[in-house]
Amino acid sequence: MERLVRSCYRQGGYVFAKKAGGSAHGAGSDRIARLASNENPEAPSPAAVAAAQQAVLTANRYPDERVDVLVAALRAYYGDYTFVTGVGMDGVIETLMRTLVDPGETVAISAPTFSFYGLAAQAQGAKVVPVPRRADFSVDTDALVRVGKAAKIVVLCTPNNPTGNATSADDVQRVLDEIKGVLFLDNAYVEFSGIDYLPLLRKYENLVIGRTFSKVHSLAGLRIGYAFVPAWLQPFYMRAGTPFTMNSVSAAAAAAALSDKEHAARYITQVQVWRKRFSAALKFPVLPSDANFVMVDVAPHTGDEVVEKLAARGVLVRSCRSFTGLPDHYIRVSVGEDWENELFIRELNAL
Ligand code: PMP
Repeated sequence: MERLVRSCYRQGGYVFAKKAGGSAHGAGSDRIARLASNENPEAPSPAAVAAAQQAVLTANRYPDERVDVLVAALRAYYGDYTFVTGVGMDGVIETLMRTLVDPGETVAISAPTFSFYGLAAQAQGAKVVPVPRRADFSVDTDALVRVGKAAKIVVLCTPNNPTGNATSADDVQRVLDEIKGVLFLDNAYVEFSGIDYLPLLRKYENLVIGRTFSKVHSLAGLRIGYAFVPAWLQPFYMRAGTPFTMNSVSAAAAAAALSDKEHAARYITQVQVWRKRFSAALKFPVLPSDANFVMVDVAPHTGDEVVEKLAARGVLVRSCRSFTGLPDHYIRVSVGEDWENELFIRELNAL
């Protein structure tokens, strides 16, 4: 019966990070360091939890299809921008592709990077064209413009997953000046970078900036993403989207999470401290990062080998092998709690 499945889904698919359990028994350790998925290790803000508990009491009703509670909170926080929401930024990416891409159109992706852009584009029948970064993983803006000129969507992740480095607002502007389609700027990790790309939204009508509550706001499990979009795009995005996709509990939690600035600030400080400590303490080269994770060059080992060995010692990190265009000797490690980061340093250096 498999012949009935679309050819693009008979192989491949999203590669998930290693879960606790599995091969992570932890030799003698009863706690597992979870450093594979770039989550904030702290529980959600109490304000978000309280709002979610309140919202669940009326979950017999359908949610508000315009997600007003969250959009209003975003406008109060960021100012007078146009927003769309989705089930995680993954949901935003999927709906954006559905809104804009006809079969056969080009989606240009600065790579290596997060894999879901390509999968979501492929689902629309797009021609996916990866545009390689330079050897130091900086964006080759000339190459991106060359391919991007013929693309419906150009995708640029900054700070980039998994390499960790950010692209300057000036370089982003260079791309925007030249392309004719939409630039999707993935800012999942922007809170850790100190870079502000929002001024570009005032100047360009073809810029979409994706964001998420999964990282700095500790709400990965509730699946909440959003994007700053040009006003012309918003009604079409709504038309293309799955009805009622953002549930009322998630929307309420996200709106409340924005009000707890100290919760976010605590993790941002933790990240700034530990990025430096990782670089100083590890015996392997650590790439410069503007995100809440670092990529580590573990050669002569492979990323897969190191992931297995660390998992056996109770530390979960991510192998970068599944990121197309990257050699197989990198791992990606999130900044977790102090004890998790310390355990990781100790075990990696012991290899
Ligand atoms: N973009 C990037 C670069 C990511 O790393 C992730 C999550 N790993 C996402 C988007 C998706 O985030 P969300 O949890 O909001 O779907």
